[in-house]
Amino acid sequence: MNINFQMTTKIITGKDCVVNNSDIFASFGKKCIIVTGKSSAVKCGALSDVTKALEQNSIEYVIYDGIEQNPTFESCKKAAEIAESSSCEFVIGIGGGSPLDAAKAVAVLALSSHFGEKELFSACFDKALPIIAVGTTAGTGSEVTHVSVITDSNGNKKSFRHPLVFPKVSFGDAKYTMTLSDSFTRSTAIDALSHCVESYFNKTANDISRTFALRGCEILLKKMKAPLSKDALSFEDREEIYCASIYGGLAISVTGTAFPHAMGYFLSERKGIAHGNACGIYLEEFIAHCEAVCPDDMREFLSKLGVTKNELLSAIKNNLPEINVRIDEDELCELAPRYYGNKSLSKTPGSFDGDNAKELLIKLFM
Ligand code: NAP
Ligand code: FE
Repeated sequence: MNINFQMTTKIITGKDCVVNNSDIFASFGKKCIIVTGKSSAVKCGALSDVTKALEQNSIEYVIYDGIEQNPTFESCKKAAEIAESSSCEFVIGIGGGSPLDAAKAVAVLALSSHFGEKELFSACFDKALPIIAVGTTAGTGSEVTHVSVITDSNGNKKSFRHPLVFPKVSFGDAKYTMTLSDSFTRSTAIDALSHCVESYFNKTANDISRTFALRGCEILLKKMKAPLSKDALSFEDREEIYCASIYGGLAISVTGTAFPHAMGYFLSERKGIAHGNACGIYLEEFIAHCEAVCPDDMREFLSKLGVTKNELLSAIKNNLPEINVRIDEDELCELAPRYYGNKSLSKTPGSFDGDNAKELLIKLFM
């Protein structure tokens, strides 16, 4: 047994946690940039809570609300230019994983305006503005990771990781998730479950990451026995699912992910599939792979959760929409090379390489 863990984020959850802890914002400076998406931060009430907290502390703010799903380097650069020219001292990300990941890139680019994509993705930096994360989905766990996934100018999702982009504070008020549609409620929960499962069986897992992963799974599996539905979830259910997503984030902050995430990216880039569904589509195959290469671990995992393999698979199927994606020979040839030498793929237990990825693409999509 071993433990290997670093965490520099103060995590605060609970109803009205932003306004009730507004004094925290004061320690980060007198001016900030709020980085968010098109409309959900307004719709769910997070933006007004944050601006109220800032106003209570006489902190000035500028808002950049141009972050799209699968955020692009270009929008992060635009937001960073505004942060720099407005002399912002910290960055607040409000949203799901897209604005939160974008906030991390903005925090870096605002202090290194000469950076292009190459410099950002190689994570060769030693400064970043402090980041405060306000989560509005219960899925990615980006609130507690030092990872940011950004779409480059070729349309490919790429990540960078650096301890400086761990949010300093992360607020999780589950009331914000009440405005999520049924489909995003489900896809973000699948993302959280995928993090927990990919982390638990990861080659780099240790005792603490497995503890987080198991707790996340335990909560999610209880809720996902039937399709999650916006109207049927109580605030308490939402708080639990939100916490499960944080457990998933803590788990992958240690281990990273495995082949479902590595192979899910192209489905979001090219086929418009929501991130959680794009990873979830591979989960059944991932579970079968883990059972084949580490049967004892799978038995222990299921027994600790008190579920059968079929119950685990049902929780996924209940919440995953039908995805009818097809790729042709040309697309396969274009996609396959990215899986040779891929780092996340190599964290899959046993052996899973570029050839295995290609076979799986053929099996699922051709
Ligand atoms: P998202 O892309 O942030 O948002 C999806 C959609 O949901 C957007 O249309 C958004 O609206 C809307 N939305 C967000 N919160 C809402 C709310 N409370 N009520 C109503 N609508 C809401 O979704 P996500 O699944 O949370 O994030 C996915 C991204 O995170 C992907 O790019 C993925 O690669 C990344 N990710 C990062 C990590 C990490 O460790 N850093 C881990 C997993 C995934 P708006 O457009 O108005 O915001
Ligand atoms: Fe994810």
